[in-house]
Amino acid sequence: MVLSVGRLDWITEELENLKKQGLYVTIRKLQTAQGPWVVVDGKRVLNMCSNNYLGLAAHPRIKEAAIKAILDYGVGAGAVRTIAGTMELHEILEDKLARFKRREAAVVFQSGYNANLGALSALGWGRKDLVFVSEELNHASIIDAMRLAGAPKVIYKHVDMEDLKKKLEEVKDYRIKVIVTDGVFSMDGDLAPLPEIVELAEQYNAIVYVDDAHGEGVLGDHGRGIVDYYKLHDRVDFEMGTLSKAFGVIGGYVAGDRESIEFIKQRGRPFLFSSAMNPPDVAAAIAAVEILEESDELIKKLWENTHILQKGLRDAGFDLGNTKHPITPVMLYDEKLTQEFSRRLFDEYNIFAQAIVYPTVPKGKARIRLEPSAAHKPEDMKYVVDSFTELARKVGFFK
Ligand SMILES: *Cc1c(COP(=O)(O)O)cnc(C)c1O
Repeated sequence: MVLSVGRLDWITEELENLKKQGLYVTIRKLQTAQGPWVVVDGKRVLNMCSNNYLGLAAHPRIKEAAIKAILDYGVGAGAVRTIAGTMELHEILEDKLARFKRREAAVVFQSGYNANLGALSALGWGRKDLVFVSEELNHASIIDAMRLAGAPKVIYKHVDMEDLKKKLEEVKDYRIKVIVTDGVFSMDGDLAPLPEIVELAEQYNAIVYVDDAHGEGVLGDHGRGIVDYYKLHDRVDFEMGTLSKAFGVIGGYVAGDRESIEFIKQRGRPFLFSSAMNPPDVAAAIAAVEILEESDELIKKLWENTHILQKGLRDAGFDLGNTKHPITPVMLYDEKLTQEFSRRLFDEYNIFAQAIVYPTVPKGKARIRLEPSAAHKPEDMKYVVDSFTELARKVGFFK
């Protein structure tokens, strides 16, 4: 007889270990749509931790587009893209995204995570003549994608162009070199120095791949992203993006030249082996791109709120690091203090803002990460500044 009792005990132990180390994540429950004010665990709070930068997640026009798509096309795409899952809606979205990004072509995936997985693994698949040159603080989806690809990789230090040059020199004999970087770094809001990266890439004949998850809808003309912001369209080869942040929906994509995108469709595993984005999500994403093309009013509001929030916090004496983006890291340094600060913001000030601690950021660099949106009011930003200042005094962070 096989003894099966206790075969999952190790999971209980692992969970207890996480709790002991303070690494156990408590997941809060939203009871309303995403927006500037939400009900979380039964309490109405000011939402300062969503990536819904433009407030599009519950925008009336986007909701209507999704409802209409359900009536016309149903809820499921029915198959993977290459078998019977590509609908005309998917192609409309890809054409719109390509035009929006001012590129020849684009391919959509079920998420930004899958877009990185699909594109980078397609490029690197088992190749020994290709090397990834990857920035130290790249998003987990890039790290996972490089693992899946199985090609060699080297890591260069965060925004350190001397080190990038050194690493490119080390790998200069590889036939194919792919520099991969986040455009905006999600925990700090600082930007990749793309003009310098592109210079070095040209010097070493390397491909440039930028993950623009936080740049779209925020930076550049009408939110076209970081490549547009720096005016580097002809010098960056691949722009990956997500439809889940500023666009407010779900899905991801990669834009580039026609043949490269064709190649990703032939080889990208999440494209080949996971069913296509659902019709209502595709229609909602199409509406989101149209809204951005028509007007940059929401982006202007996002930046107005960002300036009020960041100027207020800096004037009050907080360190916001090197952010150039609505991502606002309020540095509190100490892990325990930061956890307490977040809890008391919620309990005493009705502000929902998450503590970001080790291992997401280095030890001693704990912070509260704030994300303003276009849907907030200037008064909301002032309320956050006043609450942070008062609470910082109460906890002894400000003397
Ligand atoms: C959020 C994010 C992703 C993943 O996008 P999803 O659409 O949520 O899967 C990829 N890269 C970066 C830099 C991100 O911030």
